[in-house]
Amino acid sequence: MALITKKPRGTEDVLPRDSYRWQFLEDIFRKEAKTYGYREIRTPVFEHTELFERGVGDTTDVVQKEMYTFTTKGGDSITLRPEGTAGAARALLEHGLFNDPLPIKNYYLTSCYRYEKPQAGRMREFHQFGMECYGTNNPAADAEMITAAKAIFDRLQIRDLRLEINSIGCPACRAEYHKALKEYFSAYRDELCDDCRDRLERNPMRLLDCKVAHDHQIAEGAPTVLDYLCDECREHFDGVKAYLDANGVAYTVNPKIVRGLDYYTKTVFEFISGDIGAQSTVCGGGRYDGLLEELGGNAMPALGFALGIERLLMLLEAQGVRIPEPETCGIFIASMGDKAHRAASALTTALRSAGIQAEFDVVGRGLRAQMKYADKLNAKYSVVLGDNEIEQGSAKLKNMRTGEQHDISLDIDAFIEEFVRLDIDTLLTPVLEEADGAITE
Ligand code: ATP
Ligand code: MG
Repeated sequence: MALITKKPRGTEDVLPRDSYRWQFLEDIFRKEAKTYGYREIRTPVFEHTELFERGVGDTTDVVQKEMYTFTTKGGDSITLRPEGTAGAARALLEHGLFNDPLPIKNYYLTSCYRYEKPQAGRMREFHQFGMECYGTNNPAADAEMITAAKAIFDRLQIRDLRLEINSIGCPACRAEYHKALKEYFSAYRDELCDDCRDRLERNPMRLLDCKVAHDHQIAEGAPTVLDYLCDECREHFDGVKAYLDANGVAYTVNPKIVRGLDYYTKTVFEFISGDIGAQSTVCGGGRYDGLLEELGGNAMPALGFALGIERLLMLLEAQGVRIPEPETCGIFIASMGDKAHRAASALTTALRSAGIQAEFDVVGRGLRAQMKYADKLNAKYSVVLGDNEIEQGSAKLKNMRTGEQHDISLDIDAFIEEFVRLDIDTLLTPVLEEADGAITE
């Protein structure tokens, strides 16, 4: 098999016939983020490896097993971003964004890279939309973050999504909890995987997140973090729940969620679907109050979520949510003869500059073949220009869906005016400004 015509394992192409689905979601993300007062941050696709070792945590699966790391010609160790938070936090420190009025509200829309075993919902290159808020400890902010993620799912009319929340405490209460976990897991030391034996010493909470089946089974009986929360963390968690209740957001408390990245503190949450198989977490997030300090900055509380776009698309598909397919051709200007062809070219250009999706023949087809092509494009209207039409300065505009015909002047301004009057939807501009709502079949 020729390698050059085969994409690497765990990657996906988005083909032109499908890209509208991605664009539709991206519109929704951006619009929702804007509604919540978030602005976009874009950071490099690669960073210094150390950023992820420190930021994501060197006892996580992501850092231990999944990073795409390489040495540059200059001898630096570089890693393709496995997630969006560490790079955004690095940028925040580097550019002093922490001086902005609080809270700082950023969103990102990025590709991520993890060397994982490819399967449905688990890719090596995948995409995340994430929202992140810096500079507030208040439980209202945790609930707001969860509400923002939920707003996106609601906007898409997704059903049966379970919200699970938990608190994993702060460094203060975690010391006690770590002790309890160590005690519990030590009894099983010989049965644990090699990674977990190492984690037992360095970061026992990571054992709860191990994907190895037997370790997972052992973790079932482990002490739960909620029994070890300090007063401050307990109060905070109660606050989050109270604000979720006030917003009418339904949730279940699942004391087993710890999340895959090391930087989380206090609130963690996941949106989970029963409709997309084993990789069922569509969105995960929580608080990471220790991250900035871990990266060498001043301490500043923070929270956020990341939503997996591939999994969201799988979910939309599974639930039959139809994303409206955009029109590709408003009007096809067919022509016969050189003179008419030049007129068709000029008319098409004028229509396009008025924001109308117009096409004419650039392949050299005969009239019949042009009309066949217009059908394939699903053109809404067509017009045929020949010597007669040019001479008379008018032509017949045909509605391709109804077959209705209509005289139209070939004077360009008059043509555009008449066309827009007939078919206001064909103007691209309003479509670009407004994302359409999804339609459930
Ligand atoms: P999982 O437990 O499924 O491995 P994770 O804890 O590693 O997830 P996060 O790092 O929190 O996931 O990423 C947030 C979201 O990104 C996930 O909930 C999921 O929707 C998506 N995601 C994570 N890894 C992948 C992947 N390899 N392929 C596709 N989507 C992914
Ligand atoms: Mg993972």
